[in-house]
Amino acid sequence: MVGSLEEAQTALDYIRSRMEKACRRFGAPPREVDLIAVSKTVPGKALEPFLAAGQRVFGENRVQEAKEKWPALCARFPDIELHLIGPLQTNKAREAVALFDVIETLDRDKLAGILAAEMARAEKRLACFVQVNIGGEAQKAGIAAAETVAFVERCRNLHGLDVVGLMCIPPEGKAPGPYFAHLAMLAREAGLDRLSMGMSGDFETAIAMGATHVRVGSALFGKRPPLA
Ligand SMILES: *Cc1c(COP(=O)(O)O)cnc(C)c1O
Repeated sequence: MVGSLEEAQTALDYIRSRMEKACRRFGAPPREVDLIAVSKTVPGKALEPFLAAGQRVFGENRVQEAKEKWPALCARFPDIELHLIGPLQTNKAREAVALFDVIETLDRDKLAGILAAEMARAEKRLACFVQVNIGGEAQKAGIAAAETVAFVERCRNLHGLDVVGLMCIPPEGKAPGPYFAHLAMLAREAGLDRLSMGMSGDFETAIAMGATHVRVGSALFGKRPPLA
């Protein structure tokens, strides 16, 4: 699984060039979109060529896995920016605050309160994205679309969190465009200008709809093993 620097560079160049094309085609220039390299299930050794190739922003979806993998790499590359993109249990909030730079999965009041307390305790303020359950799916995390604007206001005013944007994962098997457009509309209503949306299969569509952050895993690192 460990590739060469050249392979990592080629994979990064390919994704970045597709992002740039989408930006040119769909955005008023200059438009910047951040590439979050989603490194879940990728061993630390296999990430080194990507770090050597200059990638610094990574997404992980489990606190435990990130804790095993990233502290050693962060010690060597202090400018790494780690995003938590998976569901966060309140009992992992302290570890998440210690390890991550950005929380993308803020989706309920209890979590907002605990994150605020843990950030105060650690004297570390993390930027947060509110995750929206944009497809209204029973099994998916995220605040309901209709509650998003009020929730963002509570996170800011009641809990004092730095909410910077919205994040979503649209339903599988459906055209994602309308869901991305809906998220963009909610962000405008909430007065937020960052949108984390789009994965390997649909990041160009997400850029067309206003994404400022795309989260790309398998298109960079190869297919992941199926979930155990
Ligand atoms: C795994 C994951 C991704 C990346 O998915 P790919 O299809 O491999 O690009 C993006 N966002 C979240 C929240 C994920 O869990």
